[in-house]
Amino acid sequence: MNVTSYLKRAENPATRAAQYADLVKEYYDSVTPFYRWGWGENFHFAPFLGDEPVSRALEAQQRLLVREAGITRGKKVLDVGCGVGGPTRSIARMTGAHITGITISPAQVQMAQRMTARQGLEDLCYVMLGDAMEMGFEDRSFDVVYMIESACHMPDRAAFFAQCARVLRPGGTLAGWDWIRTSESEDAVEKALIDPICSYFTLPNLYTLTELRGHLEGAGLEVLRAEDMGQEGSATRRWWNPLEVQLDSWLSHIACRLSSTLAMMRKSGELLVSAGRAGVFSPLGFFSARKPIPR
Ligand code: SAH
Repeated sequence: MNVTSYLKRAENPATRAAQYADLVKEYYDSVTPFYRWGWGENFHFAPFLGDEPVSRALEAQQRLLVREAGITRGKKVLDVGCGVGGPTRSIARMTGAHITGITISPAQVQMAQRMTARQGLEDLCYVMLGDAMEMGFEDRSFDVVYMIESACHMPDRAAFFAQCARVLRPGGTLAGWDWIRTSESEDAVEKALIDPICSYFTLPNLYTLTELRGHLEGAGLEVLRAEDMGQEGSATRRWWNPLEVQLDSWLSHIACRLSSTLAMMRKSGELLVSAGRAGVFSPLGFFSARKPIPR
């Protein structure tokens, strides 16, 4: 990855929106091997109750999604923006549901397919290449559509959630969590914390829970829940703590001198921690909604 060129293009909000497909693909194709190294198979955050291992917190968060979305054995489920399929496989294993994952990153598809085969989950999980803004699935083809920290990348959230609602069957559930701005105001100090996150991670902008709720309703869905889980759980151990520990490690300090991609990732991790600590950002905007059954 040419980090300088990527950051230059991603710095401009209009370019981020117009070239989202290229930028998001370039970003994830490059960072995914390092994410695997640092985070394993699940590329998402979770609240902590106490000093439980990160893997336990991630699993608890996925179980919450399973309950909220009503994912059970035999259901047809779509995982939008599935990364290397960590949550896809984990949720399939928990429930026996049939889950299709899509990601815009060819590198992630390759890794996901290899891991799915190695873990003997090919009967339940299928990860494919695709752009969530233009999903080729038939209308009403899934019982559940979920997304974990991926909607934030979509250049037009109203159109994106409309796509998700289209492929969901009436009575089906859409759920997940997303990166959000936790303050309604847009003062300069907050902008200085939020704007670089959008550039580094190639997000068109960051929306609030109120805006997210509006998009779900605009897509004809009945909102069941929309809340920030970033403040939940332990008061002393927040979602950013493991990231902060990683950033403080000597390995991280040395590694970012060896690779410009790692240096970029280090900076982007620091941005998340600062915005989290300042209380203006959360990666845990949780939501669930139902597609009404027409009378
Ligand atoms: N949900 C996964 C990955 C989160 S990272 C996990 O929790 O492990 C965000 C994911 O969204 C990446 O896999 C990225 O490729 C995907 N993504 C972003 N924009 C996309 C788009 N337009 N179409 C499909 N996938 C997209």
